[in-house]
Amino acid sequence: MHYLDNAATTVVDPELAKLCYDTMLEIFGNPSSLYKPGMVAERAVDHARAQVAATLGVTGAEITFTACGTESDNIALQGAAERTKNWAKNIVVTGFEHPAVYRTLELLAAQGWEIRAIPPDAGGHIDEAAFLEAVDEQTGLVAFMFVNNEIGTLLDPVALAKKVRAKNGRASIHVDGVQGWCKHPLQLSGGEIDSFALSGHKMHCPKGVGALYLRRNYRIGPVFGGGGQERGLRPGTENVPYIVTLGAAAEKYGRSIPARLAGAKKLNELLREELAKRGDITVNSPADASPYVLNFSIPGVRSETMLHFLESKEIYVSSGSACSKGAASHTLTAMRLPAARIDGALRVSFCDTSTEEDVRALLNGLEEGLRALQRR
Ligand code: PLP
Repeated sequence: MHYLDNAATTVVDPELAKLCYDTMLEIFGNPSSLYKPGMVAERAVDHARAQVAATLGVTGAEITFTACGTESDNIALQGAAERTKNWAKNIVVTGFEHPAVYRTLELLAAQGWEIRAIPPDAGGHIDEAAFLEAVDEQTGLVAFMFVNNEIGTLLDPVALAKKVRAKNGRASIHVDGVQGWCKHPLQLSGGEIDSFALSGHKMHCPKGVGALYLRRNYRIGPVFGGGGQERGLRPGTENVPYIVTLGAAAEKYGRSIPARLAGAKKLNELLREELAKRGDITVNSPADASPYVLNFSIPGVRSETMLHFLESKEIYVSSGSACSKGAASHTLTAMRLPAARIDGALRVSFCDTSTEEDVRALLNGLEEGLRALQRR
């Protein structure tokens, strides 16, 4: 099997799966209970909090555990809107956010917020000047992503946040870090960013666990009512085994960011070089994108058709983003690419276990697929 859809989800690391299973059996207590099994569970959760925090150079007290990246984004965005609604009127955001952000902002738009979405240009970049121009004294929230999930555009969260702060010191700044966490180095200790969302299943954990960084002294109200766990922001009995697993993933993968990044870069370059040799394939990802993601368009074959052809050879890639099943890519549409390029777009995404053999298999599969499918 050649699994090249790691931006959709990753395989669970067997070492982490074992830890998860063992924790499930051994640390069964409710962290809120006052007796020993409860305290053991609470300690395990706090240890994981420190492990996740260390990947961002922050403290455990700044980490809230959630069920997924979507939940982290929702808590941060809705919380920020509630926090600033008394004086703010608009929200500034990139025009190529994941639905976890843009659909949440649609809910806020229905409450009267003006959403200023700055689209990417045809090269897949956000015009920084235009983005900052949209921020004014009535901006309550600024949201952007670390790495775009469809084409891999890489933003510099700290540098951009500093520029936003220079224009508006009281707006909340949220970063969707789901595709960048533990893949690209990032330190949040400078306090420029108020909130940062991450998700475990993009980093070899089971689906169902995520986290939200909230800067010390940055306060938002709850989105859910409940028993007060996670400082009331994500009430509900903590999923201790999954949280422990996320902590261990943070420790394991947080240490190897440069080495894994170098590996992804090599594979990305190989794929780009080989695709360029064909001459009929257009790369949609910017040249300076995250090497973990490469989006390109094939001529004369719909991406779904090619996806299933590749599937027959056990090569797995995505057409657009996994969340948009069959729908035209949100990002490529925002880039205003021609319809044929959007229809033929495939996304390849690597992880640390991806190999040159995977890339070669994909190239052969594409070659064969184009020959077989273009003829019809
Ligand atoms: N944000 C981005 C950029 C993503 O790529 C994803 C998932 O694909 C999410 C948020 C949502 O994360 P989750 O699947 O953990 O809810």
